[in-house]
Amino acid sequence: MAKRVYLFNEGHKDEKDLLGGKGANLCEMTNLGLPVPFGFIITTSTCQEFFDNGNQLPNRLEQEYRVALDLVEKKMGTHFGDPDNPLLLSVRSGAPVSMPGMMDTVLNLGMNDEIVEGLARKTGNPRFAYDSYRRFIQMFANVVMGVDGEKFEHAIQTYKNEHGITLDVEMQAEDWQRVIDRFKQLVDLPQDPFQQLLLAVEAVFLSWHTPRANVYREMNNIPESLGTAVNVQAMVFGNFGDDSGSGVAFTRNPSTGEKSFFGEFLFNAAGEDVVAGIRTPEDIDALRQKMPDIYQQLDQIQVQLEKHYRDMQDIEFTIQEGRLFMLQTRSGKRTGRASIKIAVDMVKEGLITDKEALLRVAPEHVEAFLHPMVDPTQKTDVVASGLPASPGGATGAVVFSADEAVEVAATGKQVILVRRETTPEDIHGMKAAEGILTELGGMTSHAAVVARGMGVCAITGCNDLTIDYAAGTATTASGHVISRGDTITLDGISGEVMLGDIPKIAASSSDDFQTLLSWADKYRKLQVRANAETPEDAAKAIELGAEGIGLCRTEHMFFASERIDMIRGMILSDTRAEREGYLAQLEKFQHDDFVELFRIMDGKPITIRLLDPPLHEFLPHTEDDMQALSDNINKPVDMIRNAVKDLNEVNPMLGLRGCRLSVVHPEITEMQVRAIMSAAVAAKEEGLQPLPEIMIPLVVNVREIRLISEIIDRGIHSVMKEKSLSIRYKIGTMMETPRACLGADRIAGDVEFMSFGTNDLTQMTYGFSRDDAGKFIPTYLTNKLIEVDPFVSLDQRAVGKLMRMAIEDSRRKKKGIKYGICGEHGGDPRSVKFCHELGLDYVSCSPFRIPVARIAAAQANVE
Ligand code: PEP
Ligand code: MG
Repeated sequence: MAKRVYLFNEGHKDEKDLLGGKGANLCEMTNLGLPVPFGFIITTSTCQEFFDNGNQLPNRLEQEYRVALDLVEKKMGTHFGDPDNPLLLSVRSGAPVSMPGMMDTVLNLGMNDEIVEGLARKTGNPRFAYDSYRRFIQMFANVVMGVDGEKFEHAIQTYKNEHGITLDVEMQAEDWQRVIDRFKQLVDLPQDPFQQLLLAVEAVFLSWHTPRANVYREMNNIPESLGTAVNVQAMVFGNFGDDSGSGVAFTRNPSTGEKSFFGEFLFNAAGEDVVAGIRTPEDIDALRQKMPDIYQQLDQIQVQLEKHYRDMQDIEFTIQEGRLFMLQTRSGKRTGRASIKIAVDMVKEGLITDKEALLRVAPEHVEAFLHPMVDPTQKTDVVASGLPASPGGATGAVVFSADEAVEVAATGKQVILVRRETTPEDIHGMKAAEGILTELGGMTSHAAVVARGMGVCAITGCNDLTIDYAAGTATTASGHVISRGDTITLDGISGEVMLGDIPKIAASSSDDFQTLLSWADKYRKLQVRANAETPEDAAKAIELGAEGIGLCRTEHMFFASERIDMIRGMILSDTRAEREGYLAQLEKFQHDDFVELFRIMDGKPITIRLLDPPLHEFLPHTEDDMQALSDNINKPVDMIRNAVKDLNEVNPMLGLRGCRLSVVHPEITEMQVRAIMSAAVAAKEEGLQPLPEIMIPLVVNVREIRLISEIIDRGIHSVMKEKSLSIRYKIGTMMETPRACLGADRIAGDVEFMSFGTNDLTQMTYGFSRDDAGKFIPTYLTNKLIEVDPFVSLDQRAVGKLMRMAIEDSRRKKKGIKYGICGEHGGDPRSVKFCHELGLDYVSCSPFRIPVARIAAAQANVE
């Protein structure tokens, strides 16, 4: 039969599954010879047995732990149930993974009416004895007997009121005795200490299933089958007097990562008083001053523990009558910044390897370095929340239109652009704004993609808001009205909208950050490219380590206000000749842009996607804008109105876009190819090494690729012939429709690269519109209909299956195809790891995500 009870000197730190995290570490500390009050652990498998038995403790369990209890008595020199020399116990839960505060604890167990008197005699401290007893009754009654804790608080409060007492410290021994008399009317406490222990063990097991524990497990994906261990440990008392106290400490600063012992201490207080925050603890320095010897012992122990565990530790300790006792150690939680500093410092100190350091950092935390962040300790007044579309923190005055954003920003004020959704027409406002907040749209909506690319903080899909442009208000679900000009703060990491100006932590790039990234580069196989099309974004991408551009969305190059009317003119042209006139103007811009990109990306590949605009997005929507366009391009406003109506697609994401546009209007592709190649020629003439890769978007079959490749090849050769220069280039396709993936074997022969456009691939696999998903994804998540937003983290089961199939089928047909991903998932750590497993050659993501992808790619390779 499996051993159910382990003494603290019988286990070790790697037995968390069996002994729970707390228990395994108590054993480890005991074996290290540290001063741990002795005790034993009832295993997690006993908990499973308990549940399998219909919530009955196994028959022999009590006999087994009584043997252990005898040994605890021997070590402590006290006896459980002996009024003259009582041993008191703490009975705590301890799951294999930390579930802070989720399960139950009983302290001071083993007291009764007789023992309390004995304790008072023995300690000569009746106040302490009665205070301990009343605490025990409260906890036991609440945790084990299910009596409402409020009743006891009420009894204490009534007593205090009757006697004009305000603070607990004013309560004398007799006061607590009287309160205990009142408690006894509320509960019939078992007087037998052994029965108390049995009931407490049962209660701890049962607390594995309290609603709060169930919810926590679900939220954190902790399997229910793990069960909890029970830690039974001799009590030590921090509330024994002025030479006693309790503290918690970290071996390094958990906010900054700085290597300095960091902690809090309360004199004459029990551990739970520190945690509960009833009194304000003092800095650990107070301990150094008042009890230098103890401080020194503690300091040595913390150094020893950190070395032993090779990680920053979070420790709990108690001092009783000038003696130090260690109650807990575990790896400490830390901020993203601290995690990087600690990991890098520990490598320098020779504690861990660079590979281990990489695994100690959450890739998503890395991005926090690149943007100002809302200070988490200063958050207040959250009035709405949406999807955290683009990270960072931003504060500004609310504006409701792009023009207004530009106007107000021009006066030197920071603005937050609030829109129902954004379109290319809003780009100038998005650029001028500190942050963007939209009512609609998901994580890959226009607002999200563009904001991420620009590195501007954004929250999308904020359904809590109802925006009224005419009134200049956004009303929250609770009825709060945010008006034009009001100051709000967006937290793009959590998706929260707050009133007022909430302080930020400034962006910074430390040496540690760069060191960590250099280790990541040493260990990753996946290349990391950027989704970028403007010179600013491309330069940022290089600065953050991009090895090329994986997606240059050419339609984004026409967003600037002086260009948008040219593209509108092109869309609204009646004849091919007219269209070619506009295209000629656009070609000039494209040429110049590409030359600039080739300069920035000298020697690095640039994947240039042929135009893929949902056409209607480029047309004006308001009457004023239509009138302005009519003046600019010299076409009657009626004609524009009709064209807008005609081009208004029911589902524009599935409409006339991508390669379909090249099929219908080949002259657009011809122009783009000329612009790309003439720019490449110009770059080459400057002595640069341009590496254009032309990418055909949204294909469904190989015939589209053949038709468009012919146009591309023809264009390329005519430019090269004309300039008598040869340029290396590639033609490939974007895999973003399920049919393209399913027919990858046929496509393989006609392409040199395949780049998975997982935004559209997710949209089409799910049948969820990218733009509207924000309306229901949060509810899907809360109802556990999906585990993660598939537009954020790649759905490995379905979308991933299509990708895998496409790779395997195309590889079978042709070797040497390069595979990449350029949907937003290219910057999501989990998706990057999946791409590594799939054997892709590169991931491409918005510039600010590049460090995240570098770390995630390295982690995937060293894990
Ligand atoms: C995609 O569909 O994944 C993609 C990158 O293209 P876009 O987001 O421009 O549709
Ligand atoms: Mg796409």
